[in-house]
Amino acid sequence: MTCSKDYIERAEHAVLHTYNRYQIVLEKGKGVRLYDLEGKEYLDFGAGIAVFALGYGNEDYNQALKDQIDKLIHTSNLFYNVPMTEAAEKLLKASGMSKVFFTNSGTEAIEGAIKAARKYAWLKDGSTDHEIIAMKHSFHGRSLGALSVTGNSHYQEPFKPLIGGIRFAEFNDLESVKAQVTEKTCAVILETVQGEGGIYPAQKEFLQEIRRLCDEKDILLILDEIQCGMGRTGSMFAYQSYGVQPDIMTTAKALGCGVPVGAFALNEKTAAASLVPGDHGTTYGGNPFACAAVSKVFDLFEELDIVKHVQETAPYLEEKLDQLVEKYDFLAERRGKGFMQGVEVTVRPVGEIIQKAMDNGLILMSAGTNVLRFVPPLVITKADIDEMIEKLEKSF
Ligand SMILES: *Cc1c(COP(=O)(O)O)cnc(C)c1O
Repeated sequence: MTCSKDYIERAEHAVLHTYNRYQIVLEKGKGVRLYDLEGKEYLDFGAGIAVFALGYGNEDYNQALKDQIDKLIHTSNLFYNVPMTEAAEKLLKASGMSKVFFTNSGTEAIEGAIKAARKYAWLKDGSTDHEIIAMKHSFHGRSLGALSVTGNSHYQEPFKPLIGGIRFAEFNDLESVKAQVTEKTCAVILETVQGEGGIYPAQKEFLQEIRRLCDEKDILLILDEIQCGMGRTGSMFAYQSYGVQPDIMTTAKALGCGVPVGAFALNEKTAAASLVPGDHGTTYGGNPFACAAVSKVFDLFEELDIVKHVQETAPYLEEKLDQLVEKYDFLAERRGKGFMQGVEVTVRPVGEIIQKAMDNGLILMSAGTNVLRFVPPLVITKADIDEMIEKLEKSF
């Protein structure tokens, strides 16, 4: 029998070493559990980085994909297809946006959002030196445009020059944002809840004031909901709990629940005066296979009332994590919203705790340098949370 060690060695020979991976070869999943090649079971509180919201092996979801595979996998954007139309309508209804463009990943959604914002501003005044305000400690992706608005110099440095005209402000500090506004500013981009930076939710007043500032100066507000969207924080999109609507929003991760797909969506004002035929495109984006997944995900979110389940169950996770923070000196703070939680760790290296957790059959991830991140499938129950806490304490 070929074992994990063999695949790990072969992967390290064949795959470019851009990740330091855990020494685990995952083979299959069921519900909120994953299994490696040796059959060891893991309770999954990572969901493939906030992707697999529905849990593994949902029969309706799997069947919808199988049916679409047998019908048609790809057409190109030179034609219309049924799943794209249905997925688009469902995404717009859920997000309150006006027009959507499907991409293949989160970073591409950010690229499209940046292009739409620049085009909107260019149509207004014809100038080609517009600026975008982004946040420190943000994360928006690895392609060069998205990297340019990612406030992490470690990620940026080797790849300079990046795209120009990006200014960074402090997250949750309105004055710091205002200080970066010039007559060239065309957009402000931020994550409604910062993910990779360490799980920092935007403060309500901050986001509302940014919205007001953008309205006043006709600056476009781009909200990156790639990690915090799709029900994770207890509303379909996190901005909905702030009473703030963006001009442009991006989504990906849980949008297809494992099928690679993302999207950026524009409000009416932005859609009416930005990208037109010839401005933007993709071979795969809006492909019937990916969109069949998106369409089914929205159906299942409704059928299973996922958002309500998050609202009802997440307070229990918060309570349990708060108890841990209370109990252990090296846990400094819990932050987050819904099933997007972070616990800040001091003194002890986060990586060691995560490794121990995996030994104990619990998959966890980090965020930033010192935060334990909890982004489970959205269907987890209180019993799963109890089990997670037990395994985590054992790992301390
Ligand atoms: C993951 C992530 C991205 C990038 O998405 P990819 O699909 O990895 O390109 C962008 N923004 C946020 C907030 C993310 O969490």
